[in-house]
Amino acid sequence: MSADPDCLFCKIIAGEIPGDFVHRGERTVAFRDINPQAPVHILVVPRGHQPNAAATAADDAAAFADIAATARAVAAAEGYDDYRLVFNTGAGAGQTVFHTHGHVLAGRSMDEHLA
Ligand code: 5GP
Repeated sequence: MSADPDCLFCKIIAGEIPGDFVHRGERTVAFRDINPQAPVHILVVPRGHQPNAAATAADDAAAFADIAATARAVAAAEGYDDYRLVFNTGAGAGQTVFHTHGHVLAGRSMDEHLA
């Protein structure tokens, strides 16, 4: 599985930088966001390096499906059936770490806006 030595999330996956992991799967991992925007804010991250969700969707549909299934599982493990799953795709959409990740957000009201 490909890794980028300069990628922050590849380093977290490799254990070179600490991460608060809640899931370690064959294809996908999940760890808590360092700057949570909700009571539950978990990042679901494919092990293979791709720059964003569009690239993963195009090149590795199985990884994308695994992200969706993992998001549901980690939200449920935190006690939430209702959650938001967000992919910021590209700098113009607010992406700051260029390794595919889905944000799982839960535990607060989210019916007011999409941010
Ligand atoms: P993006 O803006 O790319 O969609 O999301 C990147 C996320 O990564 C942000 O929510 C940010 O708080 C989180 N983040 C940045 N650096 C680290 C880190 O070193 N560890 C963890 N766990 N999360 C990080």
